Amino acid sequence: MTLLTLFKRPRTSQRSKDRSHIKVGIPKFLNIWSTHRFWIGFLKALGIPAKNIIFSSDTSEEQFREFGKGRIGMDSCYPVKALAGHIGELLTKKIDILLVPMIYSLPSFLRGHVLDTLSCTRVMMGPENIKAGFIKEENVFEKLGIKYVSPFVSFGEPHLLPKQLYESLRDVLNVTYEEVERAVKEGLEELSRFDRAMRKKTREILEWCANNNHPCILFLARPYHMDPGIGHEIDVEFQNCGYPVVWGQYLPTDEDLMDWLFGPEVEAGIIKSPFDISDVWTSSYSSNTNEIIWGAKFAARFPWITAVVRLSSYECGMDQPTFTPVQRIVEYSGTLYFKFGDLDETKPSGSIKIRVETIDYYVKRYSREIIRRKLRRLDPRRVPESFKVALSNAS
Ligand code: SF4
Repeated sequence: MTLLTLFKRPRTSQRSKDRSHIKVGIPKFLNIWSTHRFWIGFLKALGIPAKNIIFSSDTSEEQFREFGKGRIGMDSCYPVKALAGHIGELLTKKIDILLVPMIYSLPSFLRGHVLDTLSCTRVMMGPENIKAGFIKEENVFEKLGIKYVSPFVSFGEPHLLPKQLYESLRDVLNVTYEEVERAVKEGLEELSRFDRAMRKKTREILEWCANNNHPCILFLARPYHMDPGIGHEIDVEFQNCGYPVVWGQYLPTDEDLMDWLFGPEVEAGIIKSPFDISDVWTSSYSSNTNEIIWGAKFAARFPWITAVVRLSSYECGMDQPTFTPVQRIVEYSGTLYFKFGDLDETKPSGSIKIRVETIDYYVKRYSREIIRRKLRRLDPRRVPESFKVALSNAS
């Protein structure tokens, strides 16, 4: 017992630092949509209670008009410009710290199978561009006594995170390197728990569709198109028509399912693994683009995804080169493909509704045949246990 006490790792004095009163604001923009669970887990581990981690609201025209107007100093896609509204809104929330990460690379299940998992350069630099609008005439952050923190973070190389976050947070939060290291671990675990839960849920939806022989619609877009103000809730319109909707980012990656969908191609040496996209996309540097391409491949093989809806924002240079490959991958398999491009801050509700009605007509009319055709192409000996009943329903 004496030895245990003597050699017990000493608690650093920082551990007992009370940070429970600190309020941190995080704008809910761009790739915060795919990393938010990390930030919650990370800050909680540093002693900041969940109630003091304040995210801005969903993007909206009102938010931009009220809080972001006059803060834009460059031309860009709307998802970046919208950040001004998010920051402006958080400045009214009595926060102590405004945390606006510059995300260089992203965590991705495709890492190791692709060349890199980088963010779009506008995602990396958006915070600096928008910040300029809040300091060009007077430094609004200083005036309000809010500390602006913008760590440069590489989720693609998680071993760098402790150093990157320590350097940017040590003074504002008075933290030690060890504390940050431990908090990063907690944050990554929280993010991966969330990711697993979402993939599990998507699998349940896909199994439900299979067992009921019901068509499902896959959305292929950037993670922030889930923001109602960026994606204009087009997914909700389809749900209102009775279709289960799943998003490419959270498709299941279980071994049995991967073997059913991609196994023969791996065995034939066409691809190295189910997550290899080099057969259709060689320039695999961008994380979100890679996942969109992989999602298209998944949709082309999975029978009950009978339609793919692609979303893209106005002035998105990253999406441009992917339109044709994604459409070809999807349509080559006989799956229906529809694109809502050039999405901007205004929501053209009327035209969205008309298009949704048209798509609904085609999905209803052709889904049964699409499911049958796609099932015929898959090897029945590889079918996962949970999809076996579905096979007899569909035949
Ligand atoms: S990927 Fe497109 S929409 Fe997203 S930040 Fe880059 S340019 Fe804008």
